[in-house]
Amino acid sequence: MVARLMDGAGLAERIRAQVADEVKELGEVGLTTILVGEDPASDVYIRRKQDAAKEVGILARDYRLEEKTTEDEVLDLVGRLNRDDGVDGILVQLPLPGHIDEQRVIEAVDPAKDVDGFHPVNAGRLSLGLDGLVAGTPTGILTLLDEYDVPLSGARAVVVGRSNIVGKPVALLLLARNATVTICHSRTADLAAETRRADVLVVAVGHAGLITPDMVKEGATVVDVGMNRTDEGLRGDVDPAVMERAGLMTPVPGGVGPMTIASLLRNTVKAARRRRC
Ligand code: NDP
Repeated sequence: MVARLMDGAGLAERIRAQVADEVKELGEVGLTTILVGEDPASDVYIRRKQDAAKEVGILARDYRLEEKTTEDEVLDLVGRLNRDDGVDGILVQLPLPGHIDEQRVIEAVDPAKDVDGFHPVNAGRLSLGLDGLVAGTPTGILTLLDEYDVPLSGARAVVVGRSNIVGKPVALLLLARNATVTICHSRTADLAAETRRADVLVVAVGHAGLITPDMVKEGATVVDVGMNRTDEGLRGDVDPAVMERAGLMTPVPGGVGPMTIASLLRNTVKAARRRRC
């Protein structure tokens, strides 16, 4: 069997076109991003998000703060943006420099403008099954699974990785869709035994090629979240040879990455709509 590729780039393009229509209908929608320091990977992510936002007609503002910016200065900026009526969404690019308490900054963002879905109010609403703003990557993964009609109710889903931004929220979304969910992490005793049972396998670890073909059930749906810069270029957490066992699989690049950005734009429109009600 050779897996069918799940085309995240194509679906993300269609979502961006829908978002552009919604932005037109709403009039003005504003997204502000904050980047502290000079991390090159963060710079690339912010530029992609800015470009995508502008392309759909969102008014995107980009704050670039020096590495030495203090925590109080960042909190002060977030406070001003919270009060600014022209700002519907606030995104603080992580990681922040070591001298800034990331959690304090995340918690300073108004939950109604928290388009990354990282605020405890939004994370809590997700865990309670209440409507809120959910992080872009997990939302994008579910949208992609739905696009390919992957059955979730009663399916055995295994999520490898338990971060607050991917692993945990994607597990909660799968649970909300009635999958039987197992979450694996660095202390999981026998990772292969867990992953081999998965009808739907989501891998968000940050370790190139961690999941090999022998760890995957024939015909499974495999979602590769990993983005690892290697000497051979960008690689996922899943060995490309898994293509020969999986039924459906996301490519890297062109799978989850573009869906994350499309979901961020959707969240911005959602935040704008709710603030206008
Ligand atoms: P984190 O580093 O926050 O979390 C990694 C998780 O993987 C942890 O829960 C860790 O376990 C677990 N882990 C580490 N080693 C192993 C192992 N050998 N076996 C099983 N589990 C292991 O990463 P993120 O969730 O932020 O990101 C994961 C990957 O996804 C990265 O490559 C990142 O670049 C990518 N990413 C891609 C996005 C996209 O849009 N495509 C968006 C966000 C992230 P423990 O908790 O025990 O330490």
